[in-house]
Amino acid sequence: MKIHTRAVHAGDRKKAQSQIPVATPVHFAASWITTDTAELDRIFGDEQKGFSYSRYDNPTNSALEELITSLEGGAGALACASGMAALEHAIKAALLDRRKSVVCARDIYGATIKLLMDVLGPFGIETRFVDTNDLAAVAQILEQEKPGALLMETISNPLLRVGALDEIARLCRAGSTALIVDNTFATPLLARPMELGAHLVVHSTTKYLGGHGDTLGGLVVSDEEHLATVRRLSRIAGPVMGPMEAFLTMRGVKTFALRMERQCHNARALAGWLRAHPRVEAVYYPDDPAHPDAEVVRRLLPEGLYGGMVSFEIKGMERLGIFAFLDSLKLIVKATSLGDVHTMVLHPWISSHRDVPLKQKERMGIRENLVRLSVGIEAVEDIIADLEQALPRA
Ligand SMILES: *Cc1c(COP(=O)(O)O)cnc(C)c1O
Repeated sequence: MKIHTRAVHAGDRKKAQSQIPVATPVHFAASWITTDTAELDRIFGDEQKGFSYSRYDNPTNSALEELITSLEGGAGALACASGMAALEHAIKAALLDRRKSVVCARDIYGATIKLLMDVLGPFGIETRFVDTNDLAAVAQILEQEKPGALLMETISNPLLRVGALDEIARLCRAGSTALIVDNTFATPLLARPMELGAHLVVHSTTKYLGGHGDTLGGLVVSDEEHLATVRRLSRIAGPVMGPMEAFLTMRGVKTFALRMERQCHNARALAGWLRAHPRVEAVYYPDDPAHPDAEVVRRLLPEGLYGGMVSFEIKGMERLGIFAFLDSLKLIVKATSLGDVHTMVLHPWISSHRDVPLKQKERMGIRENLVRLSVGIEAVEDIIADLEQALPRA
């Protein structure tokens, strides 16, 4: 079945009883009674699927996990309280039986860098950074460091570089490095990293999969090799999503493919409009034939679907000019998140990349005049009209 079909069917409506709810209810119970103690014994022993305690498993979470597994592939999933909780959990599951070291993509979500440096670093997990768009550099660092895991995003933030996941997976698997891919920006509509050889895939479902800016959440999708570890560590450490969030996320996921298609089309139209604008210095969007990863984009992303994020630089503008531009937007929402139904704008210099040292920002190509748009599902004419009035041509 196609992804659009699975997005509205998987996980739901499978109880063997005569009345079946069309949507999985929110199961607000911390624990379950099993009338047959021998059965409870099998559930505790993990010999039988069942529910005993919500930190181990909850029917609403379980339905969401089945849904995401259907969309991403893999052997199973774990719903977590946030994208960051999911990332931390995936890293721990990957490193449990491996060297306690991570090679991380240089272009990555700011909090992911902090997770590695400030949270995991003090516990002895070492991190090295590499430009994952330079395959020779990736091969070299994997050979030298033999890291336990390599962590990267399918589409990077905010400059929208696209890594050669297939080649990188091959390099990781040639050694014994686990490949963890944060697929938040791409969603399973654009890329399914498990099919390209990733061991673990992570989502912040707060973004495109939830899609409505009302629910924080994350997911770890696992291959067969790591699934028992992912679930066992979670039963103890309990980074799990709450059932209400699982319900809302599942409700969001049903329309994600429709929303994402619209967001991709709107983003592509906006990128074209921005390129033709005299005050715009540069536009970052993967549909560009001159994109540095154009060949990888052609190979890995579906034709016409290049994501809902567009970044651009405004000519000669410094921070105060950017502030004035942002303050004059009327429709576009100034918010730090992304992937919602409404268009959002962010100034990476003062927000997502605020704490990145100046030198590193330079190396990453993050400039003061860079603006990042998360394009929503509105009529694209209205988004353009708002940008037009906030950024006059003269
Ligand atoms: C937002 C985001 C995260 C963190 O997710 P939370 O749900 O905010 O914890 C991780 N990775 C990427 C790419 C993100 O955009």
